[in-house]
Amino acid sequence: MKKFLFLFLILAIVSCKEEVLNPEPIIIEKPKVIEKFGYIFDNFKVIQDTVRKNETFGYLMDKNHVANSLINKLVTKTKPTFDIARQLRVGKPYTILAKKDSTEQAQVFIYQPNRVEFLVIDFRNEVVPYIGRKGVKTVIKTASGEITSSLSNAIEEQNINYNLTYALSDIYAWTIDFHHLTKGDKFKVIYEERFIDDTISVGIGKIKASFFEHNKKPFYAFRYVVDSTKNVPEYYDEETNNLRRAFLKAPLKFSSRVSSRFNLKRRIRHYGFRIKAHRGTDFPGNIGTPIISTANGTVTKSEKRGGNGNYVKIKHNSTYSTQYLHMQRRKVKVGDFVKQGDVIGWIGMTGSTGGPHVCYRFWKNGTQVDPFKQKLPSADPMKSDVVPLYKEYIKSIKKEVDEIPLSVKETIIDTPLKN
Ligand SMILES: [Zn+2]
Repeated sequence: MKKFLFLFLILAIVSCKEEVLNPEPIIIEKPKVIEKFGYIFDNFKVIQDTVRKNETFGYLMDKNHVANSLINKLVTKTKPTFDIARQLRVGKPYTILAKKDSTEQAQVFIYQPNRVEFLVIDFRNEVVPYIGRKGVKTVIKTASGEITSSLSNAIEEQNINYNLTYALSDIYAWTIDFHHLTKGDKFKVIYEERFIDDTISVGIGKIKASFFEHNKKPFYAFRYVVDSTKNVPEYYDEETNNLRRAFLKAPLKFSSRVSSRFNLKRRIRHYGFRIKAHRGTDFPGNIGTPIISTANGTVTKSEKRGGNGNYVKIKHNSTYSTQYLHMQRRKVKVGDFVKQGDVIGWIGMTGSTGGPHVCYRFWKNGTQVDPFKQKLPSADPMKSDVVPLYKEYIKSIKKEVDEIPLSVKETIIDTPLKN
């Protein structure tokens, strides 16, 4: 009966239109059934929103006509799975499925604490809360590009997930200065990307292999786990050299820009020019920027003194020590063991300095030297018994990398890596 009425209405509209306007085709689209979290939304009054300030689970339930006694029961029953009374966070999405009748009473509450999981509390019958997971699918992709301005631009231009820039600059942190790429440099990469709902990218996974052509020189990187019991991947080149160095290039995480280099003959203006050696390398940054240790070691000095201001000195082994000057604050004390990349203080302007920067000093056998002129040791060279296995492993992957065409958009090629 209803259907007839509906058809009649459409016909009425059509005929009406024909009388006054030019005939227009009318497309009757079959309504899409929306099914989400295992519910057909059509069967409910659907409220979708994000948690606002001062909104609690109790408030949301009360607002949607749930009795207080039931609210208490829901909180108690859900607690072993999720503490709904305390763990709702402002800005996170929730869905309430309510009765379609005039009571508009909530029947199902769904909360998404993150992009992958969702909590379902269905209280139509027995309350059995559970946490569901959206399927996360990992695919392996290839990408390539040519640098015209910067790597991040090259990656953005092709709509590739921008995290790939970070992943690549991590791998090449010791071999290529990404702030000084040249026009015409090229990259190729085989990497994992994770998706939920097949379309929403939730991030870059592992980089399987990559290639960078910098100043016409090739730089390969292959991910390899030398000791499968420890499962710590490292990146090696085609000659089995570890791409990681024992020292980071810069004591700052996101910049390796240098404002003043190590220079024993630096001329400074001081009642006419005079020569004053600069035995450090200056890395500029905003006050408060974290300063990191460039290698593992033990803190031997942490104090405020004269022109150095607040400074820290770290001994890495019997040959090398590093020193970090003009800090706003120090984070470590003498005797502390720090790991490569640990924050040891923050950029400031203490001591004699014209602007906020960290003056990085590199000591070799008790003398200050230019870190950029040292042939620094690689971290953990590959053990000789692993070398033939590695060489065999990279044969086909290197071919795969070489065969990636340049400047062709990302392509899905394979299923995920095991480790
Ligand atoms: Zn300096």
